Amino acid sequence: MRKEFLPFTRPSVNESDIAAVSEVLRSGWITNGPANAGFEAALAGLVGNRYAVALSSATAAMHLLLKVMQIGPGDEVITPSMTWVSIANMIELAGAKPIFVEVDRDTLLVRPDAVAAAITPRTKLIVPVHFAGAPADLDAIRQVAKDIPVVEDAAHAVGTFYKGGHIGKHHSAIFSFHAIKNITCGEGGMFVTDDEALATAMRRWKFHGIAMDAFDRQNRGRSPQAEVISPGFKYNLTDMQAALGLNQLKRWREINAKRTQLAMLYRELFADMPEIRPLGDPAYDFIHAWHLFIVRVDSPKLDRNTFMAEMKARNIGTGLHFRCAHLQKYYREAYGYQPGTLPDTEYNSDHITSLPLFPDMTEDDVRDVVAAAREVLA
Ligand SMILES: *Cc1c(COP(=O)(O)O)cnc(C)c1O
Repeated sequence: MRKEFLPFTRPSVNESDIAAVSEVLRSGWITNGPANAGFEAALAGLVGNRYAVALSSATAAMHLLLKVMQIGPGDEVITPSMTWVSIANMIELAGAKPIFVEVDRDTLLVRPDAVAAAITPRTKLIVPVHFAGAPADLDAIRQVAKDIPVVEDAAHAVGTFYKGGHIGKHHSAIFSFHAIKNITCGEGGMFVTDDEALATAMRRWKFHGIAMDAFDRQNRGRSPQAEVISPGFKYNLTDMQAALGLNQLKRWREINAKRTQLAMLYRELFADMPEIRPLGDPAYDFIHAWHLFIVRVDSPKLDRNTFMAEMKARNIGTGLHFRCAHLQKYYREAYGYQPGTLPDTEYNSDHITSLPLFPDMTEDDVRDVVAAAREVLA
């Protein structure tokens, strides 16, 4: 058995990250400033978009987006139930109704036919999720969406490509830099778009409803008398965070390459274990970011929760991404959802677990995880 506990994830922070944050701390300007501008430009450059707006989290980005789009009571937003519940929470808190749709049983990517079936005259927005680092079928989703806006949840998708283009290219998407994501700045998010009006509105709503922030006023010679155009929130990112995010983003290829190498080894080693079933790949051309390595524990001998506990007893951490949204207490009670509503989502919600996957892991760590799983199942 392993002597040291192997967590399911750990941020990859190196000396250059620490130096970048220290430089901000010594600079005398620690809230949003030059590092924010650099981080925004770098992500816009990677994605291939004109605008990027740095925010305190992806959840904050969704909150602002719903406000900017004036989505509220009487409106519906379509999103998979197999996702982090923060998106549904923001829809609910805006007074709109989340419409949860089914995912593919093997990839956990939202099904375009399920999206099509859920569209009504009240549908104001569709939010597909690029699950675990694999892209949803955007062409098919846009085709069924017609004129309804599609904004992608790209929280798992720095380095994810769909049919040759980076996720978000020429479209609107929300990225997350929370501590467990491939590229992190502790907490943070980014909204990217090619729509200038949308980008301007997001920037205004993120900072008190003033058309410019403190950095603009002090350092860019803009009017210090800037006034409130409409009430706004305070969802800006500090420059300590932005400097970390920017420095991490420079290393995205290296970080994702290591994740890919480890994921391929897992797949190879689990090939002869039918009770541990990794997620499948979509059929179209894509590049995976390998944010998570998710398997389904499908054994008559033990359930997923027992598997996770037995792995922990062997010093292996696991995660659960995600428990489906529609059967969580609030949504169950608010909308009367019963088990059986979304069978493929629910099957996965009951059987998935995320195995350790982070850049500073070794191939021997992967072998330890597989050996422990083999022992647990024996
Ligand atoms: C992490 C995550 C979010 C939320 O990101 P935050 O930056 O923590 O708000 C949204 N959607 C998905 C799929 C996520 O995994």
